[in-house]
Amino acid sequence: MWGQTVENTDARIAALLARLADLAGPAQANAQRLDPEGGFPSADVDALRAAGALHAVVPAMLGGLGIGTEAQQASATAHCLHLIGGGSLALGRIFEGHLNAVRLVMRIGEAAQRRACAADAQAGHLHALWVTDGADPVRYISTAAGIELAGEKIPCSGAGQATRAVVTALDPSGGTRLLLLPLGRGEIVGNLPAGLQGVRGAATGRVDFTGIRHEADAVFGAAGDYLREPDFSTGAWRASAVAAGGLASLVEAARAELVARGRAGHPQQRERLGRMFVHEQAAWLWLRNVAPIAENADGDPDHAVASVNLARIAIEQASLDTIQLVQRSLGLSAFVQSNPVERICRDLATYLRQPAADEVLAGAAAYFTDHPPGSGLA
Ligand SMILES: Cc1cc2nc3c(=O)[nH]c(=O)nc-3n(C[C@H](O)[C@H](O)[C@H](O)COP(=O)(O)OP(=O)(O)OC[C@H]3O[C@@H](n4cnc5c(N)ncnc54)[C@H](O)[C@@H]3O)c2cc1C
Repeated sequence: MWGQTVENTDARIAALLARLADLAGPAQANAQRLDPEGGFPSADVDALRAAGALHAVVPAMLGGLGIGTEAQQASATAHCLHLIGGGSLALGRIFEGHLNAVRLVMRIGEAAQRRACAADAQAGHLHALWVTDGADPVRYISTAAGIELAGEKIPCSGAGQATRAVVTALDPSGGTRLLLLPLGRGEIVGNLPAGLQGVRGAATGRVDFTGIRHEADAVFGAAGDYLREPDFSTGAWRASAVAAGGLASLVEAARAELVARGRAGHPQQRERLGRMFVHEQAAWLWLRNVAPIAENADGDPDHAVASVNLARIAIEQASLDTIQLVQRSLGLSAFVQSNPVERICRDLATYLRQPAADEVLAGAAAYFTDHPPGSGLA
């Protein structure tokens, strides 16, 4: 964009990070208030919009800040996701979906589609990314006027809340294509067959697109583009960044409670606190290490995928271990529903359910067996 210098992009990013840090406290309070009925954090999404976060994911040349879409902003992206996840993992799920959807359009879409998506993000549209299918996968046929869809996506975060969605759909030849869809054209939003234990505020449901028509230019990219590596696998680092934010807020809640109850000085509580801090810091260090590797388009793609896979497993394990430590340290209090710790444990355990964990670890093990970490891990 004309007149946008590196200096003013840096200043705008610093201002965005400061605003996101201010939003974390209200987001935590709202998450606690909304959790029992699984309410959507509309006020927090509005606050993200007002802070410029929805638009920040657009590349700088289209007026945004390149958060999640430009390699040089890898570290700022990690900070953003960590801060938002620290406020609320449900909000983090929503923001991560928005970022990932816009990123796909920016990497794969035509110039006109990229411009339209950037304008939508600037106008405050919340994007979702729905790529998981149930028994009735989404597909489309071509018509004289464009395309007509059938089938449903499940699970879908932001269902009934997002106003734009990137979805995968089978084309008439059976190839998997990407569609950028304006929502609200009659698609039917429903609940999951049963509710989720955690991340209940992310409006995760099902969306039936049967009979919905769109213009032909809703389709972007070629068949198979969504699964194109290394992007498909390296994108997992962003979910880990949100989870690491949740982990940090869990450790802080446990620390504060132990101090308030006068139990932090007990030797065994001290030891558990020490282990919690180790996990929190380790997760952050993994993120700092892996974000630039994942985002560097000129790096070795196999190394990037294997590094993200290791980071994902490391942050998952650090989080699961911390949940155990916190529950042991606080005792029954960690299971009382009015205690934020109880919700954060549920949210974090649920958020960590990302696809194909075994395959991810096995793939990383195979890579680093042939490329020993001493010569491969940056
Ligand atoms: C809160 C929340 C919101 C979500 N929102 C969205 C959304 O907006 N859009 C979207 O597209 N998706 C969404 N998802 C779904 C998400 O993208 C993943 O599909 C889902 O979380 C995968 O988790 P899983 O544990 O079922 O994975 P799985 O891959 O089923 O893994 C479960 C276990 O099975 C093992 N396993 C995997 N494959 C095999 C196999 N072939 N044989 C044997 N074992 C296997 C794994 O290693 C692991 O141990 C959401 C999920 C959550 C939790």
